[in-house]
Amino acid sequence: MRISRFIVILGLIYASHSTAQIRYTEKGQAYPQATRHFDGKAFESSNHTVIRWLGNAGFFINSRGTCIMVDPLLVGFDMPLLIEPPILPDEVPSLDAVLITHGDNDHFSKLTCKQLSAVCKAFHSTAYVDSLMKDMRLPSFGHSLKDTFQIEDITVSLTPAWHTWQNEFGGFDRTFRREDYCGFLMRTADGLIWAPGDSRFLPEFLHLRPNPDVIFFDFSDDSWHIGLENAIKIANAYPNAHLLLSHWGTVDAPEMKPFNADPEDLRGRIVNPGRIHILAPGEEFWLNTAKKQEIVTEKDKL
Ligand SMILES: [Zn+2]
Repeated sequence: MRISRFIVILGLIYASHSTAQIRYTEKGQAYPQATRHFDGKAFESSNHTVIRWLGNAGFFINSRGTCIMVDPLLVGFDMPLLIEPPILPDEVPSLDAVLITHGDNDHFSKLTCKQLSAVCKAFHSTAYVDSLMKDMRLPSFGHSLKDTFQIEDITVSLTPAWHTWQNEFGGFDRTFRREDYCGFLMRTADGLIWAPGDSRFLPEFLHLRPNPDVIFFDFSDDSWHIGLENAIKIANAYPNAHLLLSHWGTVDAPEMKPFNADPEDLRGRIVNPGRIHILAPGEEFWLNTAKKQEIVTEKDKL
């Protein structure tokens, strides 16, 4: 009796925690709380790893002073947005690398990359996206899906993806290949971070070894994405991984499934629901080896 009451109370806490972090547009599209702008201080070294969501599938990782952005979309998108970016390219003091999962413009923002190139040492992606970067004269590196490379003390390997929607859609002047798209597994001193990129579900997503500690979690229910049901399957295959919600609440497109995921759809479906982190753009998420079981968000610390 006492135990069941405890569970009910926990459930209520989660419900209020979750709802407070989601807003809805007049057309019913879910989006996050207001952007928390950050500045050069976020790029300073510390004895832990801090992750910030940049909107859409973009993340900023500062791991003990090594600074990486994955799929940053900070300026110049061709559709209206629901949020402000938490930092602009000309406010970024330095980056060790930008990682791009694939060439779609909600991930490979050419204008963002161009503007970051003054302060970014290297751009990494697949061989195809690297060819586009070379055309832009970015200091870029193209990788095969078997590659592992180093960014200071972070070891990065590629994970496969299946997102060749252009071949089905038509109207493009090339046939896209599976290896044009990827995800990234980033091993930091504080834990393993997985950015899957955009992909249809692949069985190997359930068998990553070692298990990721953090997943940039795309739960949009689109046929060219992992999809809601398979996203939940992945989440529950790694019951201790922290899920930083991704690819939602950014582009004002209530009719487009890749952009209109609602965190409420995860309610009651995720083992250990406290690990769902509905970050506002720019909000800190801390990863610390010494207290790995106490990974906290800025909100939890208050
Ligand atoms: Zn996308």
